[in-house]
Amino acid sequence: MESRASRSFFDILAVLLMLLGIGAPIGLRLFNSIKDTTDLLGRAASVDRSAEQLLDPIPAVLSGFPLSPWRVGIQAGHWKIEELPEELRRLRSSTGARYGSYREIDANLDVARRVVEYLLAAGIQVDLLPATVPPGYRADAFVSIHADGAYRPGVRGWKMSTPWRSSAASRMLLDAMVRTYPLFTGLPEDRYGTTYNMRGYYAFSPHRFRHAIDRRTPAIIIEMGFVTVAQDREVFFAAPDTVAQGIAAGIVRYLSRHDPLDQAAVAVRSYPVMRVASEQAELTFHPEENARVAGRLEGGTLVRPVYQENGWVEVIVWGNYRRFGWMREADLEIPGGSS
Ligand SMILES: [Zn+2]
Repeated sequence: MESRASRSFFDILAVLLMLLGIGAPIGLRLFNSIKDTTDLLGRAASVDRSAEQLLDPIPAVLSGFPLSPWRVGIQAGHWKIEELPEELRRLRSSTGARYGSYREIDANLDVARRVVEYLLAAGIQVDLLPATVPPGYRADAFVSIHADGAYRPGVRGWKMSTPWRSSAASRMLLDAMVRTYPLFTGLPEDRYGTTYNMRGYYAFSPHRFRHAIDRRTPAIIIEMGFVTVAQDREVFFAAPDTVAQGIAAGIVRYLSRHDPLDQAAVAVRSYPVMRVASEQAELTFHPEENARVAGRLEGGTLVRPVYQENGWVEVIVWGNYRRFGWMREADLEIPGGSS
């Protein structure tokens, strides 16, 4: 199974993982043979890690569990969109962004195919998926690849998001990708550009459509950049392989850190409706102090929480689904509850 492609990929990966300081859990489950693992350990050891630390994950690999490879779904956005089933027929005309002869679909498919090659070379099972997702699709990760189009002045760069109601695993996949993608592509983040439509992507919506992923499948959607912006196009049309490496590395980074037996990580939590407890509270773009403010909500306003972490709650404003963002947990209460 040693191919030139897998070697060069792992050379890149080894450097990347070093940069990111991953060290030990370098996706050991990815390797089908002990030889590959030994190889990797040799290379990793040469980057000045203690042997003990490196050997730590081996028992999990060698303990007699069948080594079922990871399975990943890579969706080329808009590909074969005209073949969407009846339930999604209104989206059949959604052929993607374009700028002159540059079509989003071409970039999506080219990059997706390259990502598939990199993952296969790493011993991962991969499904290259068109716009139509198999009903209840299950995998260790699902990544939908798109590019955006817009004519707002100054607009640039990538953005990615999880489904609205996402598991901790989806968030981990997002975090991993947010680290690798810009490192490979050099593209800036479109930090305030995430839309309601990305979060509510049809393939993420098993409660609305049969042809959607299973809720337990960790998932993200990536907008690689803007088809309408020359500097962005230069990256994903002229250097699609770099883009594919950035995406493949993000997936591998995620898989190497995710315990496949951890059912809690892939479970989607649901939260009760909450109410703004303070007189007025901020809705911010990101869960951090000094984040840009997306709006202010009056006391008593109802919100639908979709995720909660570290004292922050991501919410959609009740009755106004285009208003969403993060709020401090301390600004919210459960109506009629004890908080
Ligand atoms: Zn698209």
